[in-house]
Amino acid sequence: MSKLYFIPGSQDLYGRECLDQVAADCRAMVDFLNEKLSGVVTVELLPTVETSPICVQDIRTAENDDDCVGVITWMHTFSPAKMWIKGLQILTKPLLHLHTQANEKLPYDEIDMDFMNLNQAAHGDREYGYILARLGIAHEVVAGYYKHDRVIAKIRQFAEVAKAISFSRNLTVATFGNNMRDVAVTDGNRLEAEIRYGWEIKYWGIGEIAALTDKVTDEELDAKMKEYTSLYTMATDNLDSVKEQAKYEVALEKFMKKWNVEAFTDTFQDLHGMKQLPGIAAQNLMAKGVGFGPEGDYKISAFSAVLMKMAECRSGATGFIEDYTYDLTEGEELELASHMLEVPPSFAASKPEIQVHHLGIGGKDDPARLVFDGVTGDGIQVTLVDMGDHFRIICADIELVKQPKPMPKLPVARIMYRHKPDFAIGTAAWCYAGGAHHSVVSTALTRADIAMFARLTGTELITIGDDTTEADLQKFFMR
Ligand code: MN
Repeated sequence: MSKLYFIPGSQDLYGRECLDQVAADCRAMVDFLNEKLSGVVTVELLPTVETSPICVQDIRTAENDDDCVGVITWMHTFSPAKMWIKGLQILTKPLLHLHTQANEKLPYDEIDMDFMNLNQAAHGDREYGYILARLGIAHEVVAGYYKHDRVIAKIRQFAEVAKAISFSRNLTVATFGNNMRDVAVTDGNRLEAEIRYGWEIKYWGIGEIAALTDKVTDEELDAKMKEYTSLYTMATDNLDSVKEQAKYEVALEKFMKKWNVEAFTDTFQDLHGMKQLPGIAAQNLMAKGVGFGPEGDYKISAFSAVLMKMAECRSGATGFIEDYTYDLTEGEELELASHMLEVPPSFAASKPEIQVHHLGIGGKDDPARLVFDGVTGDGIQVTLVDMGDHFRIICADIELVKQPKPMPKLPVARIMYRHKPDFAIGTAAWCYAGGAHHSVVSTALTRADIAMFARLTGTELITIGDDTTEADLQKFFMR
């Protein structure tokens, strides 16, 4: 189970009795957090920081614990912030500054200077906030009484984002083949991606999967076909095509296990040794949280895996999608998003069908794929692009809608959505921002989640939604 360490701040000026009370209050706070964050993360209390060496020791404990995904700090009393410098300088994990108190209300009738000295987050948390700002340490501030639902929700959100960042820092992406020839936005600086997000982006030939496909046993194939028929409706007579995909998935699973891979890419331009482009094989893996990017898009593969990890304790769908085509009926504009095959079944509004159709791109056999209509509701569309000297995340609020009419001749899964604040501003802002045609759509995550991720990873963020105006569009500049 992932863990957050809770590090309170104080000093030795107020005597043992005060420090004992600090520790007791923090214990009560940590117990409460553990109750409220059950199933997401556990919280463990570390010794109160009274001196610089204690601070260094606490941060070392957090850094050395592989289960630890982040740190919560709170200044119960005044804690002179020079004591925090050396500790904070070795902290690499996400940091939450909880600006709270042990007490909700002021005891107006009882309050005296002892109470003031014991309970002075308004004082100590500002001293501490200064040193975080002065050191330029990425962190999240959550302010409010810790038992309030709003505050607990923010701490839970921090835990989920911190888990995703921890996952990100240990993520290996396998790229089978390279980036699709001539495509710009799916390319970028892999080295910088590893430095900033931890993604180890490693190249293999797709022939590795072809070779493993040949070695899939009848038992393994039967088990995978049973998995498919238990999850999906078989709507094809071409079982050989489906079996070919089942073998791909078995091969991919073996490969990913061997190399500790949790996200991958392929490309229709490099299918050496493969009879089909992976369709249902990639789709079914995405449904299990495996990141995927087509056409060698390692950024969206990794990012989708990270965001699926962020959303794993929530209801709703999260996964890769590609912007495809529009219905531009005036005032009722909609987008149809899909891909040539690889749309994650997490988006399915009902049980997906396994279908086999010709695929005009790639020059291979007809691939089996899952076909379905998408879920509806509020969501976000988010992508990550490389601007040359920095990464940029673009996050747009969208409304996923039911497709207005059936599309009986469209042999792929799809979702449809409405842009915010409207089509003209929403899509123009996306274009101005350099947003990719590959993105992650989620009905589980919100713009606030992405903003927290961007802040904690030091990534530029551009948001689009009902608060985006025509005037905002005028602010996008050309270099
Ligand atoms: Mn694509």
